[in-house]
Amino acid sequence: MTHINAQPHDLELDVWLKQPENRVSVPDDAEIACLQEIHLGVVDVIPEALFFRRYADQDELWAAGLTHGAPGKPREEQLAKAYQQGRVAWAGSQGSRATGAELLFRALTAARQGHVWPDGFLEGPLITEAAHCRIVGELEAEIERNLEEAEAQSQAPILVLARQLGLRPEPAGKSPSAWYADCPGKRHRLMISSSSDQFGCGYCRVKGETAELEALAKQRKEARS
Ligand SMILES: [Zn+2]
Repeated sequence: MTHINAQPHDLELDVWLKQPENRVSVPDDAEIACLQEIHLGVVDVIPEALFFRRYADQDELWAAGLTHGAPGKPREEQLAKAYQQGRVAWAGSQGSRATGAELLFRALTAARQGHVWPDGFLEGPLITEAAHCRIVGELEAEIERNLEEAEAQSQAPILVLARQLGLRPEPAGKSPSAWYADCPGKRHRLMISSSSDQFGCGYCRVKGETAELEALAKQRKEARS
């Protein structure tokens, strides 16, 4: 049996379809991997079709957010009314097509954690209900472990400061030391590492350590008064 690398070094993701070249229609030669229901934020649940494509030694996963009435309709009709579709994950081919699809599905699901999460399995065939259930279960267990480990680091200096500043830090679940907190004076969240006492905001493109976070909060507060 050939060795399957669950985290291939050549794995690439564009889960929010930020790159225009990935924000295109699902190609005709992509086969249906599975149809699942996904949670968007807190209350929205929509069906999502995932497609798998293997060509030129590369595996690709394509996703399409569907309307509620889409399941059961022909593929063309589903895709014609899709909210958004495009290529979300790709890597060099590994193992069977089912293995390749499962690997990319796991990477996609992990990367969307905190924003989008599988709510139910509708149909396969490439990713079976058993595989879907196993992968989501394993990821949920990993998140749970990360949350517990993060709680053990809740007294890290940068988190103590974040609480003093009223930034409401909470474990993110993405790793044992990943936390979310409010970006000072803004309506979005930034990331904090409790192991390295560092923070970073992808929206504001700022990062630093405890002193920089304190300075940022002070500067934003002064700007508002
Ligand atoms: Zn920010």
